[in-house]
Amino acid sequence: MPNPRSAQRRAAATAALLAVAALPGCRIVADDPTTSEPPPEVAAGPGGQVSVGDPYTPGDGNGGYDVQHYKLTLNITPGAAKELDATAEITAKATERMNRFDLDLTGLDVSAVTVDGAPARNVRDGSELVISPAKPLEKGATFVTTVKYSGTPRAVRDPVLGTYGWVRTSDGVFVACQPSGAHTWFPSNDHPSDKATFEFVITVPEGLTALANGEPTTPVTSSGGGTPGLPQQPGGEPTPPGDGPGVVPAGFRRGPTTTTWKVTDPMQTYLATVDVGRFQVRTGKTPGGIPVITAVDPTVPSADLSAFHALNAAVTDEWSKRFGPYPFTSTGGIIDNASVGFALETQTRPVYGSFELQQSIVAHELAHQWFGDSVGLTRWQDIWLNEGFATYAEWMWNEKAGGPTVQRQFENVYGAVGASELWDVPPGNPGRTRMFDRSVYDRGAATLHALRLKIGDEAFFRLLRTWAQDHRHGSATTAQFTATAEKISGKDLDGFFKSWLYERGRPKLS
Ligand SMILES: [Zn+2]
Repeated sequence: MPNPRSAQRRAAATAALLAVAALPGCRIVADDPTTSEPPPEVAAGPGGQVSVGDPYTPGDGNGGYDVQHYKLTLNITPGAAKELDATAEITAKATERMNRFDLDLTGLDVSAVTVDGAPARNVRDGSELVISPAKPLEKGATFVTTVKYSGTPRAVRDPVLGTYGWVRTSDGVFVACQPSGAHTWFPSNDHPSDKATFEFVITVPEGLTALANGEPTTPVTSSGGGTPGLPQQPGGEPTPPGDGPGVVPAGFRRGPTTTTWKVTDPMQTYLATVDVGRFQVRTGKTPGGIPVITAVDPTVPSADLSAFHALNAAVTDEWSKRFGPYPFTSTGGIIDNASVGFALETQTRPVYGSFELQQSIVAHELAHQWFGDSVGLTRWQDIWLNEGFATYAEWMWNEKAGGPTVQRQFENVYGAVGASELWDVPPGNPGRTRMFDRSVYDRGAATLHALRLKIGDEAFFRLLRTWAQDHRHGSATTAQFTATAEKISGKDLDGFFKSWLYERGRPKLS
């Protein structure tokens, strides 16, 4: 996947965790082309819309209902002919009277669908699973759809930007789904505007560990590279028994292992992850008291569980001071031996491929817990609200770690006078094919710094905290952000935001 920010990251990142190579943070790719055609009508009478109509991800999402909760029971056998044997129980509320509705689902075989326990007619149409319940659903009714399905999910392979979604590793799977990958492994209303709580019940073969978002209901089993009962650190140092609270040494159990993970705060579908393989796991709390769960695949040469765990704790506490209370029930991260050049801010626990990790990338992904995850998107066009903010947090972390100041990093971007990838792409409306381009990240961050220069530090940081608080666990838009900025600063910022977010050309500083 192209990484236009490599050179800039290399220059800026003076505080490498373990090495200095540069790779993107949560720089993900475009839509699955098979999702672009809406299916024909399949039943008479009213039905939910087949898409939410987001032009950045055509076909994704559906209308007519609002999902409350996904319970996903996943039997995962990495490398088997059929890697996934699963049941999805989806609790939703009808927002209109419906004779039928759609879920998004690409590939996989559906063997049975019920609605409120009664068998329901279902047909596949491209990336839509069209369901006709035995009885119409009344507006306002809460209903449970159960889908039994199986198969091997296929990674989304974008010709321009790369591979994401359900990505096989040598010992398991790595799952990172922005923007359109969730419905390659579970039936869903796959659009960020419909958040829901989640429960994952994951069964994996003996010797493997299953990780996900949220917290496990039983202790997680470390499985990476240790002798039974005595897990090894990647460097070969034996870890004392009791590798932190809640960690059971490898070899403690025999046979397939089932782990349940619960996500009690609402989450966007693209932020759901399951990660299966051999991992060393550490649990604990940040100095500020937030539960932390980190895991590393010990075959990633540069990964150090102790350093990674401590960094996640330090960054989470730092952003809690700057952005307001941490929005979720735990924090952490997962480093896997996945051959992907990106990380993704999967809720409560970002996932990282096997590249050599910099501190600033962890700072970026954890800033997304406030900006992107808790304050979610209403439409993909506003993706700069995620990436501009997380990039700005990188600048703040670099400054705190003794690297270049935020002002200097802003000047590096603003001084790139001839950079058409910055000034010809308006970050507030980049277009579907450029939604993860450099402008969204760097001009987005520069927009925030230019705003800080215009309204002053006090108003700027109050704005960030107010933004995180006002839309905590919600979905927001750029128009709401600019209105909040005007309210807090008392300034008319229409012209400012127009030139920085929506116009071609390098904005003037005033
Ligand atoms: Zn990001």
